[in-house]
Amino acid sequence: MNVQFWGGAQEVTGSMHLLTVNGQKILLDCGLFQGKRALTYERNLNFPFDPAEIDVLVLSHAHIDHSGNIPNLVKQGFKGHIFCTPATRDLCAAMLPDSARIQEQDVGYLNKKRKGPDEPPLAPLYTEEDATNALSFFVSLPYWRSLFIADGVRLTFFDAGHILGSAIVQLDIHEDGEQKRLVFSGDLGREGMAILRNPEFITAADVVIMESTYGARVHETFEDASKKLREVIAATCRRGGKILVPSFAVGRTQELVYALHRLSDQQKIPRIPIFVDSPLAVNVTEIFRLHPDVYNAEVRQFMAMDTHRNPFGFEHLTYVRSVEASKELNFLRQPALIIAASGMAEGGRILHHLKNTIDDPSTTILFVGFQAEHTLGRRILDGEPRVRIFGEAYTVRARVESIEGYSAHADQPALRAWAGRFDPARLQHLFLVHGEPDAAATLAGLLQVDGIARVSIPERGAAYDL
Ligand SMILES: [Zn+2]
Repeated sequence: MNVQFWGGAQEVTGSMHLLTVNGQKILLDCGLFQGKRALTYERNLNFPFDPAEIDVLVLSHAHIDHSGNIPNLVKQGFKGHIFCTPATRDLCAAMLPDSARIQEQDVGYLNKKRKGPDEPPLAPLYTEEDATNALSFFVSLPYWRSLFIADGVRLTFFDAGHILGSAIVQLDIHEDGEQKRLVFSGDLGREGMAILRNPEFITAADVVIMESTYGARVHETFEDASKKLREVIAATCRRGGKILVPSFAVGRTQELVYALHRLSDQQKIPRIPIFVDSPLAVNVTEIFRLHPDVYNAEVRQFMAMDTHRNPFGFEHLTYVRSVEASKELNFLRQPALIIAASGMAEGGRILHHLKNTIDDPSTTILFVGFQAEHTLGRRILDGEPRVRIFGEAYTVRARVESIEGYSAHADQPALRAWAGRFDPARLQHLFLVHGEPDAAATLAGLLQVDGIARVSIPERGAAYDL
């Protein structure tokens, strides 16, 4: 077996790893890379291998940094099956066409701003039609059911507890008379999240590929996060401003909406209008309803109290679908909370809200998710005084706040605990991916202290025979 790391290697975007087993090529994830604009386009457009030569794709979960380049892979000749859980497939059916629309709109906007005929017009990476076409390659496999997906390769998904349908990938591999097990963590969730179950532990593997996003951080507790959320809302209301929350439409948005729902029920937050400004959010809520088998017991109980009770909807909450209604939010002159994608402010409707209010000191920009290097979200979070949005410079006068407590990722102690369950006598090699170099290095040091002999942080393109 050979494994080569092509994305999410010393970075937290564009997850993609290539396995070669019995002469077959198996891709783990096919995520969209997000970073500086020119590099983003170049990296996503040009695969480091021929997509037609990939036999099978195994997808850990629906987040765009894991699934978002699938339409392009198919467009460039991939013909195999794409294995994922049923909920991941349903989420991709909403998210991939949405990703295409965002790219088409952003490119359209940038092309309008072209300085003249010297600048060639940009083309979107893929269109809505490409995204819809890619869906016909998906094959759903529920958690805990095993299936041979290639010669000598048996796949089983376990619950990663990160977003709806998120999976830990286990591959049992028979090659050259030897039996080996490879486990890929995908993104690991947190214990005690509002909606999802806890991530599962696996105890036996020869090779582990594991995420390390928060390898150097300890999250605040859910109680502290809730307290801070209340404070941020109260303070912004006193200034008469808006709270803008860049968020992935899936995962944190539902966790946050559920948290706001409960705070509102308990009258712990002022009665301000709350908007989820995303054409996707309504679809995603419907998809959540279709998969009660993956909720935790608390949410099932919450919904069981009244069959019409919706954890993702309440009196002051409005889901905004149309572009016109989204634009109207700009004219709102009262305190409000607006949740909009994308999560790292690299595209989507959040950019329009930021453009309109980032220079207003009454605004609060509230981050609830990880902000990768070189993204607009990271620049704002790092306190850059001026940032560019759609090619124009704006002064940041808004307050900037961050609550990590709503993160859908395991923190350092949880990552360490997850890795610590593997039998160290069997585990030959553990690779840390999906983490910036400092986070991965900190975690690697701790895992070695914990007795895992071989821990590597592969660079992009690094290949290992195992
Ligand atoms: Zn994720």
